[in-house]
Amino acid sequence: MYPPSLRALIEAFRTLPGVGEKTAERYALMIAEQPAEETERFASALMNVKTTLRRCTVCGNLTDGEVCSVCKDPQRSHRQIFVVQSAKDVAAMEKTAEYNGVYHVLNGLISPSKGILPEDLNIERLTDRAKEADEVILATSATMDGETTAMYLDRLLKKEYPQLLVTRIAHGLPAGGMLDYADEITLSHALADRRKM
Ligand SMILES: [Zn+2]
Repeated sequence: MYPPSLRALIEAFRTLPGVGEKTAERYALMIAEQPAEETERFASALMNVKTTLRRCTVCGNLTDGEVCSVCKDPQRSHRQIFVVQSAKDVAAMEKTAEYNGVYHVLNGLISPSKGILPEDLNIERLTDRAKEADEVILATSATMDGETTAMYLDRLLKKEYPQLLVTRIAHGLPAGGMLDYADEITLSHALADRRKM
């Protein structure tokens, strides 16, 4: 049986997604055996994301400052807004280097079964931003909640701005999968084959 300090570290690792008892044990023992400076670097990286990282005040993406690097970039088209569920989807799309507009991160999906309502998401800010946009691309996942959210946003945006072009990325993304699980080629195609809502 491990002493309580080591046990506590194993339990902490176990809270991470995909980490089982054996892996948690291996991580904890590795930390216990490594030089103190390395552990300090690890611990300060952990604390840093809690103190430095925040949501971009424009789009909701993760950033270390007030406004994220995409929103700050004057080379990008600020009249095209790509709407995603999470900051992970932004990172996946940026990897393709196929998109030159800006993003809007909802921080979740509308889900009646989980009790997540439109007002729980970063939607109000999107309706403000859409005023200045030519196109809003809805890139929520092809799941039930993703479709519900896309339909809700389409209706909301068209009611507010009848002239606005609202599109939906093409399907063919992994079934039930989020955007970030798709590979770069799939993502590029999904963007190129988007269609009008
Ligand atoms: Zn931003």
